[in-house]
Order: sequence, then C-alpha cells, then structure tokens
Amino acid sequence: MKLLIVGIDGATFDLIHPWAQEGYLPNLTKLMSGGVQSNLASTLPPVTSPAWPTFMTGCNPGKHGVFDFIQPSGANYDLVNSTKIKQPTLWQRLSASGYRVGVLNVPVTYPPQPINGFMISGILSPKGGEICYPADLISRYKSDLGDYRVAPNIQYKQGTEAEFIDDIYGLIRAHGDWALHLMKAESWDVLMMHFIALDIMMHALWRFMDRSHERYEPSPNENAIRDGYRLVDEYIGRMLEALPDDAAVMVMSDHGFGPLRNMVNLNVFLMQKGLLKLSRKPMTQLKASAFRLGLTPAGVYRIVEKLGIQNMATRVSKNTRNQVVGKFLSFENVDWGQTTAYSMGHVGQIYMNVAGREPNGIIEKDNYDLARKQVIDALQDLHDEAGRPLISQIIIREETYQGPFAEDGPDLHLIIDDYNMIAFPLFATDGKVITNQIRGDSGCHRREGIFIAKGPSIKSDLQLPEASILDLAPTILHLLNEPVPRIMDGEVLANIFDDPGEVRYQEEDTKEFGDFDSQSLSDEETAQVEERLRSLGYL
Ligand SMILES: [Zn+2]
Repeated sequence: MKLLIVGIDGATFDLIHPWAQEGYLPNLTKLMSGGVQSNLASTLPPVTSPAWPTFMTGCNPGKHGVFDFIQPSGANYDLVNSTKIKQPTLWQRLSASGYRVGVLNVPVTYPPQPINGFMISGILSPKGGEICYPADLISRYKSDLGDYRVAPNIQYKQGTEAEFIDDIYGLIRAHGDWALHLMKAESWDVLMMHFIALDIMMHALWRFMDRSHERYEPSPNENAIRDGYRLVDEYIGRMLEALPDDAAVMVMSDHGFGPLRNMVNLNVFLMQKGLLKLSRKPMTQLKASAFRLGLTPAGVYRIVEKLGIQNMATRVSKNTRNQVVGKFLSFENVDWGQTTAYSMGHVGQIYMNVAGREPNGIIEKDNYDLARKQVIDALQDLHDEAGRPLISQIIIREETYQGPFAEDGPDLHLIIDDYNMIAFPLFATDGKVITNQIRGDSGCHRREGIFIAKGPSIKSDLQLPEASILDLAPTILHLLNEPVPRIMDGEVLANIFDDPGEVRYQEEDTKEFGDFDSQSLSDEETAQVEERLRSLGYL
C-alpha cells in the first residue's frame, strides 16, 4: 500500500471549512468526507522549525533537541539544521525497514540525510547548498521542470502585493509540479510532499481578507489566500488521480494561523522590570538612550556626530563605528552578570539566565524556581496601551518538554493575547514594549493545525477530537503495520481505523541510526539561511 502525506504549512480549518462548504476546495472536501479529520495540536512554540522535527520523530523537542529556528548560544544564536535533530526521523526508520521513501521540501531537512529513496530539503536550506539526495536528483529532472525553488523569490513589502502573490502562486506550482512528476517518475512506498507557500502568504496578507482585523484594508487581493488554498487543492486533486485506488492519503499542517495584532519587545519589558540589565559601557548607554527615544540608526548617527565622538569612533575601529551606526541594541549589550531572564524566539519564549547553561549565567539551581516565579509574577504586568492585560497563559518548561535536551529549551512559553500578539524574535525592534514595527505582517501562527486521513483501512466522514502532532509518526507506522518505537511520545490514533488491531511496540536502540553528531553550517551557508529567514520575517 502506498502512503502519500501532503504537508500544508500553516493550514487551518478556520479557513478550510468555510471555503470547502462554499465549494472552493473540492479535493480536500472529498478527503474529509471520505476519511477522518481532526485539529492537530502543534508544539510549543507553534513554530515551523520545532513542529516538523516533532512530526518527523514522534518525539517532543526535549528528546529531539530543536526548539525554534534559532537556539541561544552565548550572546548570540545558532541556526538549526537537520543534524540538530537527535532522534531518527520517520524517513530513516522507514528506510531501515525497507520502504522506498520520498521527502520533498519539508522544513529542517537540510542538509538532506541519506535515505532509501529521494529527498529535496525545504526552507532553511542555503541558496547554494546541495539540497537533494541523491545529489543528482534535481539535475536529472531539471530539463523537464526547470530549476527547483525552495522559497519565494520576492519578499513581501506593502504595495508589492501583485508581484508577491504571483510569485507565491508560482512557488505552489513549482512544488506541486515537482511532486507530481517525481511521484510518477520515481518508485516509492511513502511520499511526503510539502507546500510552504500558504504560510508565507498568510503572514503577509491576512489583513486584506479579514474584515475584523484592526488593520483591515479593502483590496483587490481580498481573495488571494483563498485562491492559494484553491491552487493547493487543485494539486492535491492531481496527486490523488495519480495514486492507485488502495493508497492512503494524509494531509496535515504544522500549526494553524490567525490574525496578528502587534508585536511585543519582551526584552524591553524585562529591562523595565529590572530583570534584564544593559552593560554600563558608554557606547551601550548611548545606544540605550537613543533606543529609548525610538531613534532610527540614522538618528543615532546624528547624535553621535553632534557629540563629536564620530571621528573618535572612526579612529577606534570600524567595528565600533558599525556598532554605533549600524544597529540598535543587541544581546551583546546585555550585562549578563546582572540579568535574570531574556527573551529569544518568535512567539514568546523566555530563558532564565541559568548558571552552567548560559555562558555567564547567574541563576543557580537552588534559586531557579524562585527566580522563575519572580519573572512569571512580573509578566502579569504586561498590558497593551489601553491597559488590557496581555498574558493569556504561561507554560513552564517541564510541562511541555521532557527528555535529555529539555533543559536546553526555553524556561517559559508565553501565549500573548491568545496568540494575536507575538514577541520579536531577537533583542528588540525599538524601545517600546508594544511595537508597531511588524514589517508588514498581519497574520501569525496558532496552536491548532489540521489533520485529514483517508484510506482503505480508515473510517469515513468522521470528525475526531483534537490529536497531537506527536501522534502522526506512530499512527503512520501502525498504518503500515510496523511496530511503534517506545521512545515516541505520541500515541497511535486508533480511532481513525475501522479495525485498529493491536499496536506493536518496539524497544528502542537508536544507535543503528548513527551518533547524531550536530554540525553547524558554514558561515556562508548560515548567512544565506539567515537572509532567507529575515526576508520571511522570522528574524
Ligand atoms: Zn509552519
């Protein structure tokens, strides 16, 4: 039996259900009425880069070690890549059991790992990188399909909607065409293909579609997102046609989507509360006051000029000069010896400045609970300009991560304004706690993604209670009549099957999958991936 898995990054039933009802999504409708569906709870944070490794391993981030696009490292951060995933992926497991597997455009698969089959890595691939396995895969099909595209060619900016939408639809077509072609040209048992485009589109264009959005604007592009879903649906239909009758199909997303109101500079808030302190070096103090005044880098430069230290800075070093004029405050300006907590990451993650983990950490084990409680208490004061409290929920680390890497993860997860607001991922955009510097985004992630499954052994026309993204790997193994490794945190979704049978478990020895050596990308590759993440609004 063949299994096709279609990933739609960021897809939500909040949009799919009404559009299916109106007849725009005939193929998803067919899958839903002929199969099962449920909401799919994402990881904390509900972000692409921990969610896909969680799907691929069936393990929580405390076991696989990927918590975000970026991981704090000193006063800086490391970018994640596929070698940071510390558990075997579904593709490696299925390969070891003799399945031929195809994996196309899934996030956090660069550098591509050798499998019994073929792979093209997804977002987080550097532009010039070797993105496929085997290495000649893309070149074999290039004459038919043109160059492979990992990501958009155009970064969204207000006023460029027409070109942006055109490019995004082009990306959907490219991913759909490659998947259709490879599913016919290559032999496979399990094929996973992924559409990244709708996520990028929903970040940029949500407000043109959502009349209740506070930045709603009537636009000729009101239906652009719907038509993007429709295009994805069309490709799903073509893929279904290319499948044998007894194939099983799953459609899933890594998280859901909804409107974005504003962004929060959590580090500015922590500074105001005295939980994060800046270093007393004169340059930092100067930048901090410029920052508080909300000055642009050019404004800072004018102040520096007036104060007459510009020439001095030129003489001192180019690096110092760049520090003054090139950027605002960064984590390098933090006085780590006086800092209790800091925020890094895209939704609202807070790290305690823990001794032994952070390079200049000051929170000792004995003091951890108390210090964290102090931060949680302080966060209750986070409110918007109207005085409305913004913290919907705070989840402590041990409630969501378990495993050998759990302590590398953020200590607190904040749900701010029911995910209508998110934190700025790096130090801060400006000196305000609530900032309107949101780089054109009007949509952001929600916890509830989608799951749809249809196949000969799967029930039909059934809506199930919410499942977890952790459950899909064990469910896929069980569907294929394979044992489920005990290490997986998810559970087989037995109630999707007509006859679930008995789940077989497998005691685990991951050693056969290698030693999980983390590798960092080269500086050049890192710069390329950072550039891509920045253009997508993730950094
Ligand atoms: Zn995503």
